[in-house]
Amino acid sequence: MTDDAERKMQFLYALRSKGVTDTRVLSAMEAIDRGPFIRGIFSDRAYEDMPLPIACGQTISQPSVVGLMTQALRISPRDKVLEVGTGSGYQAAILSKLARRVYTIDRHRRLVREARELFDTLNLNNITAITADGSFGLADQAPFDRILVTAAAEDPPGTLMEQLKMGGTMVVPVGQSDSIQHLIVARKTPDGIEYEELRQVRFVPLLEGLGKDA
Ligand code: SAH
Repeated sequence: MTDDAERKMQFLYALRSKGVTDTRVLSAMEAIDRGPFIRGIFSDRAYEDMPLPIACGQTISQPSVVGLMTQALRISPRDKVLEVGTGSGYQAAILSKLARRVYTIDRHRRLVREARELFDTLNLNNITAITADGSFGLADQAPFDRILVTAAAEDPPGTLMEQLKMGGTMVVPVGQSDSIQHLIVARKTPDGIEYEELRQVRFVPLLEGLGKDA
């Protein structure tokens, strides 16, 4: 087996062993190489199941956490998905393989620009990346079938919940920054919002306003 094939097999094995079992999610993660989303000195660690530093003091999430969040969203091919927290663009790229349309927002202009370049290079033509404060969502494209927040909020953001379709699902890490956060799955039903708690996670905080470079 080539080094590449072996690395890929180990990467997928690590995902499965951490609970990512949905075959559509696993195929999407097999199709999107994490390597190009990590620039600089950490690029040789792209296939390890670890979060890694990216530009603007942010982090690309751990692949198994990306897998679990994506799995929890239960995306169908016709869905319009909003991601808050583009970061490297890796998560958005995976969402783009599963959904009809992906909108992704980050407060750092540089991250959005670099992610856009990668989406173009990889021919991922159903992603729109926007520089904005994602706490306000994207009113002109709402409502969304699925919303994924990849930065930690103190509560599931109300504005985003309003932009979720009835029957839709939002996945968001909830908790004070730098302490214990829980991955929450929130489902909008006619009887109200149903919450499910998945596991402990650690994300950078959801911050207000635009980043300094923006
Ligand atoms: N999903 C990313 C990782 C996200 S890291 C990936 O796949 O690489 C969290 C990101 O959330 C950071 O890039 C940070 O800039 C962004 N962020 C934090 N608060 C935000 C806000 N209010 N609006 C938009 N983006 C925000």
